[in-house]
Amino acid sequence: MSARGNLFIVSAPSGAGKSSLIAALLQDKPADMQVSVSHTTRAPRPGETNGQHYHFVSVDQFKGLIAEGAFFEWAEVFGNYYGTSRHAVEDTLARGIDVFLDIDWQGAQQVRKLMPEAIGVFILPPSKTELERRLTGRGQDSAEVIASRMAKAVSEMSHYNEYDYVIVNDDFDSALADLRAIIRAARLSCAGQARTHSDMLNDLLAE
Ligand code: GDP
Ligand code: ADP
Ligand code: 5GP
Repeated sequence: MSARGNLFIVSAPSGAGKSSLIAALLQDKPADMQVSVSHTTRAPRPGETNGQHYHFVSVDQFKGLIAEGAFFEWAEVFGNYYGTSRHAVEDTLARGIDVFLDIDWQGAQQVRKLMPEAIGVFILPPSKTELERRLTGRGQDSAEVIASRMAKAVSEMSHYNEYDYVIVNDDFDSALADLRAIIRAARLSCAGQARTHSDMLNDLLAE
């Protein structure tokens, strides 16, 4: 296949629902979409599986991967390191599969420099009260971790206008429908269609 996949960057303050939205999007294992599994030095939460939610590594292993140039982007978020594997993203896009990066705004800035055609989506919660309720309701982080994530939420959200699309995740099903609409629109954009149909366009436009 000559078509390259589209790269989607999805960011949000912790607890806004981006992992749930991406999981729902990929629930039926569509052949044309994949989420990139990041490396992190954070400890696994209950129910998180190595290789599925994250590749959980030590700080030394992470620094070794940085030195090897293994990361497409990496950042320190909430005192832990997080990074996206260069090979995994490149190989998947080259196979014509759309890739979703669930990364913070610092990672998003790095990716935009490397791949300006990446499509940015920012997820907002409907209110601060609801954000705190979701972080607490998820029941997977300690009270200190929740307080520190709430404290950083405003600075994270202040970057919303660096993204191409914004979704307010109030009603979950509407937010999921919005995300699907963005993916569809991105695929139909002139640049997206030119990538997907390069052979056909060459044929159509040949004199
Ligand atoms: P959650 O988003 O609250 O479920 O918390 P996570 O621990 O899954 O993610 C923590 C932060 O790290 C979020 O801001 C993510 O967007 C960010 N993050 C996750 N993976 C990556 C990555 O590969 N690169 C970058 N730059 N940020 C990431
Ligand atoms: P993030 O990945 O952005 O940190 P999660 O996807 O883990 O956020 O969502 C945080 C919590 O909020 C989870 O318990 C999730 O089930 C819940 N949640 C997500 N979206 C909604 C929504 N629209 N309405 C109510 N609860 C939601
Ligand atoms: P959590 O610890 O709750 O899983 O993730 C916290 C934050 O780290 C989220 O905002 C998530 O998007 C971000 N994050 C996860 N993986 C990566 C990554 O590979 N790179 C960057 N830059 N951020 C990441």
